[in-house]
Amino acid sequence: MVQPSCPKCSGKEFEMVRQQIKNANFPTSLIACSKCGSVLGALENIAAGETAASVGMSIGGKLDAVSQSIHGKVDKILKALKVS
Ligand SMILES: [Zn+2]
Repeated sequence: MVQPSCPKCSGKEFEMVRQQIKNANFPTSLIACSKCGSVLGALENIAAGETAASVGMSIGGKLDAVSQSIHGKVDKILKALKVS
């Protein structure tokens, strides 16, 4: 495999540099040459674990509400039928 190199200085080491990009609504990391600083790429910093936990909590809360609603309706039906 050919070792990746910087197109500007032929450097062979790279680093992640956190950088706020104007008009971006997410944090970004740039892939830069460690030798000359040329930017070779960019990545969004998305915390997948936090996103999954947030979605899970949102779904869990909605399921609880649906469960309580169904339980309440079943109770009303049973009372109307006078079954306990
Ligand atoms: Zn370079």
